[in-house]
Amino acid sequence: MEIVEIKEIVNESENVKTFFINRRFNAKPGQFAMLWIPGINEKPMSFSYRNGFTVKKIGKFTEKMHQLREGDKIGVRGPYGTSFSIKDGKIGIIGGGTGLSPLRFLAENLNGDIKIFLGFRNKKEVFFEKEFRKYGEVLISTDDGSYGKKGFITEHIDLNCEYYYVCGPEMMMKRCSEILKSKEVEYSLERYMKCGIGLCGSCEIGGYLVCRDGPVFKELPDGFGEYKRDETGRMIEIDL
Ligand SMILES: Cc1cc2nc3c(=O)[nH]c(=O)nc-3n(C[C@H](O)[C@H](O)[C@H](O)COP(=O)(O)OP(=O)(O)OC[C@H]3O[C@@H](n4cnc5c(N)ncnc54)[C@H](O)[C@@H]3O)c2cc1C
Repeated sequence: MEIVEIKEIVNESENVKTFFINRRFNAKPGQFAMLWIPGINEKPMSFSYRNGFTVKKIGKFTEKMHQLREGDKIGVRGPYGTSFSIKDGKIGIIGGGTGLSPLRFLAENLNGDIKIFLGFRNKKEVFFEKEFRKYGEVLISTDDGSYGKKGFITEHIDLNCEYYYVCGPEMMMKRCSEILKSKEVEYSLERYMKCGIGLCGSCEIGGYLVCRDGPVFKELPDGFGEYKRDETGRMIEIDL
């Protein structure tokens, strides 16, 4: 665990902030770190930059994270987990919500003809558009049509790419696995994690541990889209 200082905070959207720290980690795109806020908890966050994490305000940990100011300190443990393979050629990047964090870091490290498909609920939630435009052609959709194309991003994916990278809500990833059945795809998964290093079993899915065997997988494990585990390890059915 390293204690680092927050150097800069960027507001990406109403509920999303990027926290730049005073240390560049030797992380690969797709890897994550366990962030520690003293007195609160530890949570996994993907590297969106070698020296930054992009966090959506959702619950206890992330609300506290959003209250932090420049100059405050947090703990960082990692980098952990598997990373995306770096390919070239015709590449499709498909992201939704906080799934954009690892994909931004990935896009920065890819060469080739990159098409980026980003889905959001509405205009207010859109972020990283300018960031992704640096690396390829960007298509945005919102569920309500308030920005970009209307509908789920899975309705707007160009199927002519050779290789795809996907990270986002469970339903989006499941749908991508159906649409991209005959393609080579890498998925980054999210599960409840306590230890981040393969000990506690909270992130088990289909016999794999997301922290150790993932978060990047070449195929979705059995049970994806069907169950997850809560903080006690109990299985909870997912209703997509
Ligand atoms: C490998 C990995 C990488 C991750 N990277 C990022 C990242 O880059 N940025 C980021 O913001 N988060 C990321 N997460 C998720 C993060 O670790 C937390 O789980 C999440 O931020 C919620 O934590 P919390 O304590 O604020 O909310 P909690 O108190 O745990 O949850 C509050 C409520 O929100 C629900 N909830 C939890 N997560 C979500 C979700 N994703 N969408 C909708 N509802 C949810 C819970 O069921 C609960 O009801 C990642 C997770 C993993 C496993």
